[in-house]
Amino acid sequence: MTTKKTAAADHASLVRMLRDEDFASLAARAYALKTEVWGKRVALRGLVEVSNVCARNCLYCGIRRGNAKTARYRMDEDEILAAVAWAAENRYGSVVLQSGETDDEPSALFFERVLRHIRAELGDGLGITLSLGERHRDVYRRWLDAGANRYLLRIETSDPELFARIHPAEQSWRTRLECLRTLRDLGYVVGSGVMIGLPGQDVDSLARDIEFLRDEGVDMVGMGPYIAHPDTPLAAYAPRLEREQLLDLSLRMIAAVRLAIPDANIAATTALQAIDPEGREKGLLAGANVVMPNITPRKYRGDYLLYPGKPCTEEDSELCRGCLERRVKSIGEEIAWGERCDPVHFERRTR
Ligand code: SAM
Repeated sequence: MTTKKTAAADHASLVRMLRDEDFASLAARAYALKTEVWGKRVALRGLVEVSNVCARNCLYCGIRRGNAKTARYRMDEDEILAAVAWAAENRYGSVVLQSGETDDEPSALFFERVLRHIRAELGDGLGITLSLGERHRDVYRRWLDAGANRYLLRIETSDPELFARIHPAEQSWRTRLECLRTLRDLGYVVGSGVMIGLPGQDVDSLARDIEFLRDEGVDMVGMGPYIAHPDTPLAAYAPRLEREQLLDLSLRMIAAVRLAIPDANIAATTALQAIDPEGREKGLLAGANVVMPNITPRKYRGDYLLYPGKPCTEEDSELCRGCLERRVKSIGEEIAWGERCDPVHFERRTR
């Protein structure tokens, strides 16, 4: 594995990558860099969607508190532990625990207990990423002390005005930024990202998103296309990009992030697969090095619908595992079974 310095991609060259450069040559450059840093290897993160109960009201999200059509669930401690143990037994190097947000002490305590329980049962080998939203510094610290290593919190857009248009007034871009900085100060491996194709977002704004992720020292990047959910207020906003355009832009974003932050972990996200059955493979060939197979118990999957058309809601984890291995092999890559694959970027940042 090579350690790469952060590349100096300026605004104009990022805009060129997102709009003008021939896609095949852009993807080839990014894939070559990915192979130089990571080899032909793909890291796995087993995604457990632990609850869709949410106190927030993001205008685009299917599990927002205002969506009365969503049946709410919370996995209990044993169910979470069983899913994580399955991931460890099946040599997934790490897991992500993701949830809607409930900013209260019982939920802070619940995850603290779950984390201690996982570490007591499974030891320190497994990477544990949390994606539980905006919380107080003390809560982030308690979860880190209890055994979490990484935290994923998307900034959604680096443009505070666009952020304000897609969130209710009580949610602020500044708070999210402060959470990201707190996580970094505390010593988490930090992940962030944006949605691509939001109403009112242009290529200039997306180029600034990449500069934001680079300048904030983000170690992991998870980005995906915005997909309108009919039961959300943002769905009424038009025009939206056509599927082909959205796919092209999402893949260009992956490639441009790889070229701007060569040693970051970059995910080929589920939303990419939702707009193209081969979206994840295309993401890997455009420079991503991580996939996040869903390992949520099947009975809950249909209720964690952030957007319509989410793939794998009818499958179980076993089936997903086999399908994934075939897909990764089909593009000439190997899964890094049993490896945590910590981002080289984090090692460099904290050295
Ligand atoms: N509540 C936590 C948080 O906000 O970080 C984690 C769960 S949240 C549902 C995870 C991510 O889903 C968000 O950061 C957002 O980018 C993505 N998401 C929500 N609705 C979406 C949509 N309609 N299309 C694409 N992505 C969406």
